[in-house]
Amino acid sequence: MATGIWVIAEQKDGKLKKVSLEMLSKAREMAGGEQVTALLLGSGVEGLAAGMGPYGADKVLVFDAPVLKEYTTDAYTKVIVDAVKEGGPAILLGPATATGKDLLPRVAARLNTGLASDCVNLRMEGGKLLATRPIYAGKCIVDASVPDALPQMASVRPNVLAVGDADASKKAEVVKKDANVTDADLKAILKEIVRGASETVDLTEASIIVAGGRAMKEKSNFKILWDLAQVLGPGTTVGASRAAVDSGYAEHSMQVGQTGKVVNPNLYIACGISGAIQHLAGMRTSKVIVAINKDPEAPIFQKADYGIVGDLFKVVPLLTEEIRKLKAQD
Ligand code: FAD
Repeated sequence: MATGIWVIAEQKDGKLKKVSLEMLSKAREMAGGEQVTALLLGSGVEGLAAGMGPYGADKVLVFDAPVLKEYTTDAYTKVIVDAVKEGGPAILLGPATATGKDLLPRVAARLNTGLASDCVNLRMEGGKLLATRPIYAGKCIVDASVPDALPQMASVRPNVLAVGDADASKKAEVVKKDANVTDADLKAILKEIVRGASETVDLTEASIIVAGGRAMKEKSNFKILWDLAQVLGPGTTVGASRAAVDSGYAEHSMQVGQTGKVVNPNLYIACGISGAIQHLAGMRTSKVIVAINKDPEAPIFQKADYGIVGDLFKVVPLLTEEIRKLKAQD
């Protein structure tokens, strides 16, 4: 019989992504007496396994192999599908990150099960997983379930679920597993990863985002947003609307919205962004939204917790200066 909750942990460059701990904390809360198992894939990542016990993992299955150094769809799918077929979990969770969005639908298809994607909450009801997810670009929220197929799968949006308190006394059993991936399993070969200059902090994991829209007028003007991001401190990064990206002011990796990234920072500062539905789809679940716009009728103000009506080229440098002064007093 299928039992237990499995969590596909995500790491990047040898660091565990926060969403992995968010999923583990939720899995622990839902598991009751059942086992929570994390799957960790990568190369030279075994050392990360111990860090998952305090957040709820009873067991960590570690697949540590050179072929898993960088994420590839074929290799990761093969390893996870083989492991699930062998272990038979009742529930399989993964992150709704760029990697997870590529990986999880394929894993679900190979396992012939369903996937509730991009969930903002999870709960158990009568032994079934109920996954809460936004639909219609975030206008409605529904509870979805995969009632008859196993494992029940869901992907979890980063930065939404809370990370539980670490319990240092909890140790996970670490089990090393072989990654049975051969050349024949790889239909595409990863040659090189070219990172964008802006990818210092992953937008989807940032705790603060300063975003610029069409009103930025040109690429070099984004400097004032980076300056603000810098004084706001670590965990802050800069995003952009599609209009800003399409105009060449910002890289596509910075785009927030329906066709960009979905973000959930603690603070989202929208500078010269009108608040089109497709932009809101990517940031409406931010915990606090501040909008700076010179048009008092701009739709973004209907979503904003705090609104500043004014010219962003005056307001943003002033904000930067004031925050710098405040921080200097600390
Ligand atoms: P605008 O709508 O032009 O707004 C600019 C704002 O800046 C205005 O409100 C103006 O009052 C204000 N402003 C101007 N000058 C200043 C100043 N000096 N100081 C302060 N405020 C000023 N958009 C996204 O963002 N992300 C997506 O993922 C996305 N996906 C899409 C998918 C589809 C299928 C479609 C059809 C559209 C999508 N869009 C997306 C585009 C979206 O509809 C809007 O066109 C876009 O979000 C507008 O960007 P903006 O707010 O920067 O520009």
